[in-house]
Formats: sequence, C-alpha cells, structure tokens
Amino acid sequence: STFFADVELVPGDPILGLSEAYNADSRVTKVNLGVGIYYDESGRIPVLDAVREVEQRLAAEAKPRGYLPIDGLPDYTRATRELLFGAESPLLGAGRVATTQTIGGSGALRTGADLLKKTLPHATIAISNPSWENHRAVFGAVGFDILDYTYFDNATHGVDFDGMLADLRRLDAGTVVLLHACCHNPTGADLTEAQWREVITVLSERSLFPFIDMAYQGFDRGIDEDATAVRLLAESDIAEFVVASSYSKSFSLYGERVGALTVVSATAEASRAVQSQIKRIVRANYSSPSTHGAALVAGVLGSAELRARWETELGQMRERIHALRAGLVEKLAEHGAPEFAFIQDQAGMFSYSGLSRAQVDRLRDEFGIYAVGTGRICVAALSLRTLDYVADAVATVSR
Ligand code: PMP
Repeated sequence: STFFADVELVPGDPILGLSEAYNADSRVTKVNLGVGIYYDESGRIPVLDAVREVEQRLAAEAKPRGYLPIDGLPDYTRATRELLFGAESPLLGAGRVATTQTIGGSGALRTGADLLKKTLPHATIAISNPSWENHRAVFGAVGFDILDYTYFDNATHGVDFDGMLADLRRLDAGTVVLLHACCHNPTGADLTEAQWREVITVLSERSLFPFIDMAYQGFDRGIDEDATAVRLLAESDIAEFVVASSYSKSFSLYGERVGALTVVSATAEASRAVQSQIKRIVRANYSSPSTHGAALVAGVLGSAELRARWETELGQMRERIHALRAGLVEKLAEHGAPEFAFIQDQAGMFSYSGLSRAQVDRLRDEFGIYAVGTGRICVAALSLRTLDYVADAVATVSR
C-alpha cells in the first residue's frame, strides 16, 4: 500500500490558471486583465526608484544574514503602525497596538485567523459577497464557520449599503466581520466615509469584531484617505480590532512577501499578551519572517527623502489607474457602450465589469483578452496602448 495513492487531485487556483492560458496564447494582441498586479505603461511590474535606492545600499553593505525576531524587523513594524494609524495616534502612545511582520498580507490574514480562533468565543466570520477568494480559504483552513454579508449591487455596480447593514445587524455578537479598507477586491466598490461611520456604529452596537484587510493603501485616494476605516475605528468606542496589511501593491514588492498583522487591544497589558500569543503562532508556522522585503520598506519609510519619493511614485500609480479608468469609460462610449460609466466610480485595481461568463469567454476566444469568469477585470493591467482594443472588444461582446 502507498500513502498517496488515494489522494484526490484538486483543481488549481482559477486566477493563476488564467495566466497560464494567457502565456500559452500566441496572439500578439492578447491582454491579461485576469491578474491582481499593477503593470506600468510598458507592461512591466515597476521597480520603484525609492526601493531601488535602498536595495543598492543594502547590496553594498552586504550585511550578515541573521534571523529576524519572530515578530519581524522593529523598524518595519513601527513604520507600519504609523502608516496605518498616523504617527500621532494616541493608540500607539498607549501601547495598545502590536504589529507583527508577516509573509505578505495573506500571512497576516492567516496569523490573525489563527489568533482569533484561539481567543474569540465562537469562530464565525462574515465575509462580503463577493470577496477575494482566498478569504474563504484562509478562514476555512483555520476552522471558521463562514457567512456572507450582502455587499455588491449588480444593478448599480456599487455597494448595496442597506443590504449590508441589514445583514450585519443580523449577526450574532462575537462574530468576526472581514472588511476591505479600500479598493475592494474583486468589485472596486468602496464605502464612503459616512458609510464607514454607520458600519462602525453597527459593529459597536452588535459587539461584532472588526477584521480589516488593507491590501491597497494609497491606491485609491492617498495614504491617509485610504486608511479612513482604520482611523475611524481607532477613534470609535471599539477597543479591539485587527488589521491585515500588505505592501505588495503599494511598494510593488509582490514576491518579496511583505505584510503585517496589527492587533489593537484594550490595554497595553492585553496587547503584550496578544503579542506573545502571535509569536507562538508564528514560531510554530515558519519560525520567523524573511529579511529583504521588510528591510526595503523600512529603509524607504525611515528616510524622509525616500519616503517622499515613494509617496510620489505611489501617487503616480494611483493617478495612472484613475486615468485608465477614465480612458476606458471614454473609449467604451466611443464604441457605443456608454453603460460602463460606473467603472470610473469604482476604486483600486479592479472592476466588477458586469460582463457575464459567456461574454468573458468570448473576450478570450475572439480577442485574446483574459478576464476572471466573474467579470472582474484588472484596470491596473490596462495601458494606453491596449485601451482602444479592449474597449472595442468589450463593446462588441456587450451588444
Ligand atoms: N487581501 C486582498 C483583498 C488582496 O487582494 C490581496 C492580494 N491579492 C491580499 C489580501 C494579499 O496580499 P499579499 O499578496 O501581500 O499576500
């Protein structure tokens, strides 16, 4: 007998499978809008100048490669807290915020899920419908029961806010609620500041536990603006919550796996205890995080000059996405499809385009344009070169 003979073959990740199909496509006009990556105008993943500068310095220094502490590089975790809450936040001064460097935003979600599974009364999480596919996978793997809350309105292509509030009000006290801070993946539909205030009121009234996923800080309106959800929670009467954050997009460091788990506790004493639990979780998973990506981010954020350069470069990525949205809407209208104007109101890398699976299939088969079967397109993978071709194709399959 063998150990693996009866192991079931499970399907691969559908979005990664899409890129394989795209790579195998020989058409020169092909466009991959299935990814979750920002590409520059020449179709490359940018290496930011500020990052390159730190990288060259690190290479020249050729420091020994010791282990990092279990919870990561202190300069990195401090800078991360300040980026999330603002350096002046009283929570930081009170010692109520513990940040751990993690293996990307995904590692933050997983470590946070492990922590909550241990500490919360009943492990149930409510996730937006729809949400990033991996949310369900991560919390499911840890043993959470998973519920949906209403989020996207297919008719308006925006948030079904009344539906969302009604669903949140129905949750049992102690339920974890996963919220996308900004640039909602996959829809691009975000809450306004006023809506965040209402959501936070419901979370507080119903004793729900907020788990914020912030993978795109700075990709919609700006570093501070995109942190509205975190800042409002910090000011609210909710004393405990979690933030999983990522520098994959904002520093264009996808493969370096730089993320952070930040936990707010009611007291400094509780915060120390929580951090001790997190260290135990990390120790048993991968012992300690990796050095390079965190050193790059800490190097940039720790220098006033490089930080300013990074903010400029982040602003350029953000502005380019806005320009691509506007350009796509304009071209679609020119090609006879003005009904896509909503794309300009959506935020971040993605748009739930409203295209059906059949239309997505036609885009791929007839035009070599790859999108996710749900109709999600990555606006940040468009370019001024491909806008007209994509708009023409989308208008054609929409007729
Ligand atoms: N959350 C959301 C909503 C995301 O879109 C992503 C990245 N696709 C992540 C978390 C994870 O980011 P990372 O690549 O840093 O693990």
